[in-house]
Amino acid sequence: MRQYNPKKRILVTGGAGFLGSHLIDRLISRGDEVICADNFFTGSKANVSHHIGNPNFELIRHDVTFPLYLEVDQIYNLACPASPVHYQHDPVATTKTSVHGAINMLGLAKRIKARIFQASTSEIYGDPAVHPQREDYWGNVNTIGPRSCYDEGKRCAETLFFDYHKQHLVDIRVARIFNTYGPRMHPNDGRVVSNFIVQALKGEDITLYGDGSQTRSFCYVDDLIEGFLRFMDLPCADSGQPGYPGPINLGNPMEFTILQLAENIIELTGTKSKLVIKALPIDDPMQRQPDISRARQYLGNWQPETQLKQGLIKTIAYFDCLLTK
Ligand code: NAD
Ligand code: UDP
Ligand code: UDP
Repeated sequence: MRQYNPKKRILVTGGAGFLGSHLIDRLISRGDEVICADNFFTGSKANVSHHIGNPNFELIRHDVTFPLYLEVDQIYNLACPASPVHYQHDPVATTKTSVHGAINMLGLAKRIKARIFQASTSEIYGDPAVHPQREDYWGNVNTIGPRSCYDEGKRCAETLFFDYHKQHLVDIRVARIFNTYGPRMHPNDGRVVSNFIVQALKGEDITLYGDGSQTRSFCYVDDLIEGFLRFMDLPCADSGQPGYPGPINLGNPMEFTILQLAENIIELTGTKSKLVIKALPIDDPMQRQPDISRARQYLGNWQPETQLKQGLIKTIAYFDCLLTK
């Protein structure tokens, strides 16, 4: 197997966001040079400020809907708002970010012959009729609902990735990421883990949308990033060694109802907050669980190691510190 060369130059788009900043921590710590490109729509400089001044780190304000010309060995394309509240704020910009962003980053990868990773999503399965979701399931997505800008944008990005791969031989890695949580989630981004923890720590009502019977499978961020790195560093197909473009599901197959999540957070924070029921958002998927057989097969038996309670304890500690600052 080819040895890992620690001196790679790597572009991370959306690197100032939740997942991107954790990815950059891992890349920097193993000796890579990182260029982080972000327009700071949902991310913040604070997430990467600990690398500023490091000669192996460069931060540029850039919107991926515009072309970008630089020279790198690898590209991780993470730029895109990820929470329903943020991606529905300007739906046209969300679709443009996924589609024009993919075209620009693929054009860049093609020109400089860089390997490129796409942060796709379990949302491409929509409100799934097949459970758990395997990569060969094509999904159940509304083309004109409030979530469509995100879901269809990411679906079109996958199409572009595979067409650049087939037509222009771009070396791609497409990961379908399932709900991930951990430190540096945006406290106001409306996602369920951050909402419930912030509400519990402030003693406010915990907002259960619907009756809380809908399910999600929550992956702790460190486990996910380990999956990103293993996938990206698989040897290239062109080298005659087995490479794999994906798509690969990355997520934790342990499935919980949203009510169970709320109960866990109430127990771990010891809050006196009460559960209140709010309307279920339109097109909210009723169940979601990744089938990770493909990830196990291709990524050296990769599987999440962090139990929900362990991950919640670390995330609660992060928000506790943030809120008392
Ligand atoms: P995030 O909102 O914290 O990070 C997204 C980053 O992209 C932010 O820093 C934001 O400022 C930046 N960005 C947005 N639009 C941009 C643009 N046009 N140009 C440049 N930068 C832009 O979200 P996250 O949870 O870190 O998600 C990262 C990626 O992973 C996204 O592509 C998301 O769709 C995908 N994903 C995340 C999850 C999850 O559970 N966190 C699940 C599935 C997929
Ligand atoms: N692109 C970029 N950086 C590069 C090369 C290309 O941002 O180094 C963008 C550019 O906007 C281009 C897009 O990627 O339009 C797609 O590139 P491709 O070569 O596929 O198509 P074309 O240049 O013919 O539009
Ligand atoms: N949710 C909830 N209360 C909240 C925020 C979200 O009950 O305060 C629910 C939401 O309706 C969905 C689930 O939690 O069923 C996950 O929502 P999130 O926005 O985190 O992710 P996604 O729906 O994109 O999986």
